[in-house]
Amino acid sequence: KNKFDVLIIGAGPIGIACALECKKRGWSYCVIEKGALTNSLFNYPKNMTFFSTSEKLEIDDIPFISNNPKPNRDEALEYYRRVVTSNELNIKLYEKVLSINKTEGIFNISTSKSNYTSQRVIIATGFYDIPNLIGVPGEELPKVTHYYKEAHNYALQNVIVVGASNSSVDAALEIWRKGGHVTMVVRGDNIGERVKYWVRPDIMNRIKEGSIKAYFNSEITKIDVNTVNIKTPYGSEILDNDYVVALTGYLPDFEFLKNSNITLSTDGKSIPNYNPETMESNIPGLYLAGVICGGTETHKWFIENSRIHAKLIATHIETKEKTI
Ligand code: FAD
Repeated sequence: KNKFDVLIIGAGPIGIACALECKKRGWSYCVIEKGALTNSLFNYPKNMTFFSTSEKLEIDDIPFISNNPKPNRDEALEYYRRVVTSNELNIKLYEKVLSINKTEGIFNISTSKSNYTSQRVIIATGFYDIPNLIGVPGEELPKVTHYYKEAHNYALQNVIVVGASNSSVDAALEIWRKGGHVTMVVRGDNIGERVKYWVRPDIMNRIKEGSIKAYFNSEITKIDVNTVNIKTPYGSEILDNDYVVALTGYLPDFEFLKNSNITLSTDGKSIPNYNPETMESNIPGLYLAGVICGGTETHKWFIENSRIHAKLIATHIETKEKTI
């Protein structure tokens, strides 16, 4: 019962794509997910719109129909959920994988609920669980969040949005439109280059007209209950503040990779060691798939360009099977 040909860790879009490939080939497989189905997408902002068109988010050529030019979170949840239910994929939810150990050619996987053995393991654990902290006093206060969900609770409040990436810009605009007083604190000298091309002019114009205040080349130095200290090129300031929405990115679980004996690059990017043609890591039979492959460069891989990993892995497992 707890013995598989392939065990997949993480039921994000890419873990699901891997499960489809296993099912097609008649392998016994199981996906183990620590949260809800597509847990990262589930935790995205409620009104978030993808930067990709729906066909680029499709897995295994299963049509993703959306009435919008770019689908939103609810549509993506609906899509991946339907892919899973209609294909009756074998997925265990709310079960966290704690460790993977290879002994005598077999992987032993221990989770929060059980133990498993598998011939191969695919790690598709993404990166949305560990926020990149700003590292200033007061960051632990309850008024500080690293996840933005919706705007209503920020109406009439003084809100600082940290960062200038897609997430920060979406949050700043939405909070301002729902009546929050928004100040952006941005380390760089401009709004991020990768901000969705149709959103960029919106934020630039709101800043230009003064609806949203923005401090560039600036950093938060301290957070207090009613104020925030910032350092700007023109000196330090203390701003009245009710909430801090710090969208400064997320990090993959490097400890989990290291504990699984996967080596990470030492160039500061911590890119896990894998063969890009097969997605096999430095441990034979242990594969990496999806955004986890980017190390700290979490923007490098996304659904659009990493859904191919599932097929690469399945093809490699197939060829290896023939040579056994
Ligand atoms: P994830 O979706 O992160 O899935 C990993 C899963 O692994 C999670 O469900 C997690 O709970 C689970 N997990 C982690 N550790 C464990 C463990 N130890 N045990 C069990 N389960 C575990 N990409 C695009 O292509 N187009 C877009 O428009 C786009 N928009 C985005 C917008 C936002 C706001 C963000 C943050 C990302 C966006 N991306 C987009 C990137 C995209 O969402 C990710 O690339 C996608 O989620 C990656 O899929 P994944 O399956 O690799 O990882």
